[in-house]
Amino acid sequence: MIDYHIHSSISADCSIPMAKMAQAAVNAGLKEICFTEHIDLNLKEGPDFSVDFDAYADAVEKTRGAFPELKIRMGIEAGLDTASAPQMEELLRGRPLDFDIGSQHVVFGLDPYYETVWKQYDKTEIFAQYLKTALESVKAIDNYDVMGHIGYVSKFCPYDDKLLRYADYSDAIDMLLKALIDKGKGIEVNTNGLYMTPSTMPETAVIRRYFELGGEIVTIGSDAHYEAVVGHAVSDTLDTLKIIGFRYICAFEKRRPIFLPI
Ligand SMILES: [Zn+2]
Ligand SMILES: [Zn+2]
Repeated sequence: MIDYHIHSSISADCSIPMAKMAQAAVNAGLKEICFTEHIDLNLKEGPDFSVDFDAYADAVEKTRGAFPELKIRMGIEAGLDTASAPQMEELLRGRPLDFDIGSQHVVFGLDPYYETVWKQYDKTEIFAQYLKTALESVKAIDNYDVMGHIGYVSKFCPYDDKLLRYADYSDAIDMLLKALIDKGKGIEVNTNGLYMTPSTMPETAVIRRYFELGGEIVTIGSDAHYEAVVGHAVSDTLDTLKIIGFRYICAFEKRRPIFLPI
């Protein structure tokens, strides 16, 4: 089993040292993990999501030495934003990265983690705008391997019915998935949504649609910011992917997919 979305204290919103997250991965029975530390250049609220790449590379090297039984990849979760994309490109150039999750973390210029955007717009406006902005990002930006947690707006939605459903936004979601497939990009199935929305991000119907449209590149990530959820629901998610029809899950090395049989 593998988990391709783990944070450590290299990320501004995580306080757990990398070695402790690696130990949690071993304890969870994982054979391979990818750290995907946050880098976002456009957030108006919250901490400074920059990455000290020297400290990051150093931590990865030390953790690899301490856990030889665990394959540890060095990745990044880069916020997708058309305005700051050239600056992001510059920051990522030449870095020894295995994997890049492109994540749409802003809608109407705001992170839905905070209540500001929910006070200014209604849910339908926010969900529709999220998909529109995600499509613009996917078309305009090249430097990412998979799109992270499609449906991220659901996670912090302050209403009882949080889910961004394929049935409600099928045209917009089809356009997004087709754009990803056209560019050779994958999707991430993020299990963090399971205890928040309550579904993986994206929900199963969206994953199935990606498969129907010809998509082949899928990664699974817990989005763990603390030890207890490392590897969360990876096994169940693999079962779901198999039922849909996928025969492979992807790992990445030096930004190239490795297709592992499920
Ligand atoms: Zn994210
Ligand atoms: Zn994350």
